[in-house]
Amino acid sequence: MTGAAALLSDLAGIAGAANVLTGPGLEAYERDWRKRWHGRAMAVVRPGSVAEVASLVSRCARACREGLPVSLVPQGGNTGLVGGGVPDETGRQIVVSLARMRSVRRLDVDNLTITVEAGCVLQAVQAAADDAGLHFPLSLASEGSCTLGGNLASNAGGTQVLRYGNARELCLGLEVVTAAGEIWQRLDGLRKDNTGYDLRDLFVGSEGTLGLITAATLRLFPRPRARFTVWAACAGLPEAVALLRRLRAEFDAELVGFEAMNAASLGLVARHFPDVARPLPDARGTASAPWSLLIELASARDPAALHAHAEAVLSDVLATGGVQDVLAASSVAQARALWRVREAIPLAQAAEGLNIKHDVAVPVSALPGFVEMADARLDAMLPGVRHITFGHLGDGNLHYNLQAPEGVDAARYLADHEPGANAVVYDVAGGLGGTFSAEHGIGRLRRGELAQRRTGVELGMMRAVKRALDPLGLFNPGVMLPGGDGPGPAPP
Ligand SMILES: Cc1cc2nc3c(=O)[nH]c(=O)nc-3n(C[C@H](O)[C@H](O)[C@H](O)COP(=O)(O)OP(=O)(O)OC[C@H]3O[C@@H](n4cnc5c(N)ncnc54)[C@H](O)[C@@H]3O)c2cc1C
Repeated sequence: MTGAAALLSDLAGIAGAANVLTGPGLEAYERDWRKRWHGRAMAVVRPGSVAEVASLVSRCARACREGLPVSLVPQGGNTGLVGGGVPDETGRQIVVSLARMRSVRRLDVDNLTITVEAGCVLQAVQAAADDAGLHFPLSLASEGSCTLGGNLASNAGGTQVLRYGNARELCLGLEVVTAAGEIWQRLDGLRKDNTGYDLRDLFVGSEGTLGLITAATLRLFPRPRARFTVWAACAGLPEAVALLRRLRAEFDAELVGFEAMNAASLGLVARHFPDVARPLPDARGTASAPWSLLIELASARDPAALHAHAEAVLSDVLATGGVQDVLAASSVAQARALWRVREAIPLAQAAEGLNIKHDVAVPVSALPGFVEMADARLDAMLPGVRHITFGHLGDGNLHYNLQAPEGVDAARYLADHEPGANAVVYDVAGGLGGTFSAEHGIGRLRRGELAQRRTGVELGMMRAVKRALDPLGLFNPGVMLPGGDGPGPAPP
């Protein structure tokens, strides 16, 4: 038996033959959500317990030490947008899918925590919290498919970061299988624990490059008694930022979401999902305003009190010209319908064809200047380019995406113009104190930017951490860190 055949036979012994998939038919694991990266896996393994994960990692580390150049690609829901969860084209990588590890281990109502396995789908965690009368606030358009392991490995953001923080802030503890095949577990749900380096924070956001997350303990919150969802049309981003300032002053922590969308984003939704776009009141002009805002308030107050306060503030803003129009959802169903419009934007972009994606953040105060400068430079460089700009304005984070002009081949356009467009966007964001990756991570897509736009000191520390925790380069080589592309000792 060859080294690879012996390895696969041992993995079948560990996870069960039915959970070691090889050969054709692995497309769903080998191709990313955007259909931009398509690799070839040696196998897909679907372990069912942390003990199985530890055994399979130990066995692969042994194979690696014996000279078989194998490495592991952790995968959750495969909804990542930067190509970090799919194998490369070498055929030497094993995808470790956590999809079978999806149980809720514990929910502690008094401690306001839930402990779940990494393969739990985000929506299932939200539902488990809701069933207990509590609230898990991480919320992304991909929540029906993405998993907690993936959310934590990529430190996902989403639509309620303004109030509750990123996935990192929601995580109190982890269970991780290390590159040595050992199990590190800290799932106690403590809010205070100053006992040495914070290992949890090393793994959150590590994109599968340091270890395999198998479970996590997450913060829960009391379920809000009242919600108020409103769609607002406004003339420009300076007005949007002024409205954000006013709402923060009026509502403080009751303001949980503040999203912005330009008219072109909504145009794509109308083109590809006319049914979803229908709740928008075209007749009143909100759908065609230069910018639309989707704002969510949530509170422990009496619903009538929250609604009365919100309506008074919005009437005042409308009367003083701060916004052009507002539409407050009058039912839970209407609120959901408004959110569906926002959530449909990335889907409509995917339906429109390949596009150049940017996930930038700048200080909120600099956002209007960022869009103005980046738009002007790109329009001069790429006449006719379509700006699909939307995102989490309240966090200073915009998906500043570019679609080829109508009628132009999207793949060709991407190949020709992505590097130039990236340079413009990241230079403008960087000049305003911003970042080139706010919530999607680095993956395969932004490794070049990481190498270029982070200092030698930062990169040196990142490499030292990688070397210390994964000396064989077993976990996700080719993702995030420049250098160390294959299994074997990481470069000095
Ligand atoms: C329509 C749509 C909307 C989205 N909206 C948002 C948004 O608002 N905010 C946001 O932040 N992201 C968003 N995303 C991106 C994506 O959904 C998130 O990054 C999500 O957290 C990925 O979870 P996943 O389970 O699909 O991870 P995967 O795609 O499977 O993996 C992502 C990364 O994590 C690693 N990984 C996965 N599981 C583990 C594990 N158990 N242990 C260690 N490493 C692991 C992978 O190797 C990979 O590097 C969106 C994506 C789509 C398609």
